[in-house]
Amino acid sequence: MIPLDDALAHVRDRVRPLPSQRVPLARAVGCVTAERVTASTPVPPFDNSAVDGFALGDVSPPPGTWHRVVATVAAGDTGDVRIEPGAAARIMTGAPVPPGTRGVAMVEHTSLRPRPDGGEDVCVDRAVAADANIRRAGEDLAAGDVAVDESVLLRPAHLGVLASVGRSEVDVVGCPTVAVLSTGDELVPPGTPLRRGQIPDSNRGVLIALCRAAGCEVVDLGLVGDDEDAVERALRAGAASADVIVSSGGVSMGDFDPVKAVLGRIADMRWMQIAIKPAKPFAFGVLDGVPVFGLPGNPVSSVVSFELLARPALCRMAGLPFAGRPSFTAVAGEGFRRREDGKTHYVRVRVDDSTDDLPSVRSTGGQGSHQMSALASADGLAVLPDGPGVEAGERLQVIPLD
Ligand code: AMP
Ligand code: MG
Repeated sequence: MIPLDDALAHVRDRVRPLPSQRVPLARAVGCVTAERVTASTPVPPFDNSAVDGFALGDVSPPPGTWHRVVATVAAGDTGDVRIEPGAAARIMTGAPVPPGTRGVAMVEHTSLRPRPDGGEDVCVDRAVAADANIRRAGEDLAAGDVAVDESVLLRPAHLGVLASVGRSEVDVVGCPTVAVLSTGDELVPPGTPLRRGQIPDSNRGVLIALCRAAGCEVVDLGLVGDDEDAVERALRAGAASADVIVSSGGVSMGDFDPVKAVLGRIADMRWMQIAIKPAKPFAFGVLDGVPVFGLPGNPVSSVVSFELLARPALCRMAGLPFAGRPSFTAVAGEGFRRREDGKTHYVRVRVDDSTDDLPSVRSTGGQGSHQMSALASADGLAVLPDGPGVEAGERLQVIPLD
């Protein structure tokens, strides 16, 4: 058995960020930038009003002074009429402040009276400070400022920043396309009537969903039996159509474990027994330049193996650091006894974070690597280092599952 860190180091050395590509903003959320974007012009691009109100040519006269309304400037207007002292322009939020404007009074603080010439005067009932309610050009970003740096995971607000500096596209690291495969003579597609000895293929749906939730595209390689030729054909099809292959089953010590055998023949493969439970067997190879994750077949093992080993690689390929979900500190809500066996155990737990203290965790039940129900009702994996386990009330690390 090797420590998990050795297996991780082996994988880490063999995965690289994907080449960058230019995508429309609408497709960029969740991707990592492959360029530093600077503002070529100021944001906002012109001085504009923060309120609906009146742009005043003079802010020094005492409250109650009347100003002659000489223009109306709506959002989208050019607003190039000059406002002299004693004059005002009716102005809307986002409209350019006309030249000569000293400050903008909120409409809520004004009253109007008609003028004999058919126009209007406006009176402001309180003092207006110089520059009041004016959003200056460049207050968000000055020309030359970094709008979005390289290696940033784009969230929706970043799309707003990119649009505001005039970008409709952005260079991002490609999102990995993952080819997913199930192997095993006992497996049939879900919904197929079972004869004795058969079980539904549940892993493929789980792994595909995990990949999609991680922002990856998926190629479904389907289900192949324990037949080396079929496994080889499927793996080669995956290498031709995807950036990474994730297969489950066929990597343990059994007589009919074809993934291990095939990868050993056609890929630069390493087979590992990792000091963790579940998910001890693991194969990793590079086939035609494409990383191949040979995850164990037991349903819980395949998920744990994906979380611990495949997720960091997918992150790295997408331009993020090589890391899985960061663990957090919690309190054992019950005793987690275990025996010493040289392995780190990952226990399916439910996290209760309803109190002000550290979140507390309890087991969700059957911890066998074939018992998927306890994984489905879990939202974390509690990490139990080798030893006697953890007493109720003691602290432990938990890897979140959602
Ligand atoms: P293996 O890793 O191929 O030795 O499989 C270990 C266990 O996982 C066996 O009990 C298999 O039947 C089960 N198994 C393998 N692949 C799948 C799958 N895709 N869906 C559900 N169970 C599986
Ligand atoms: Mg098998």
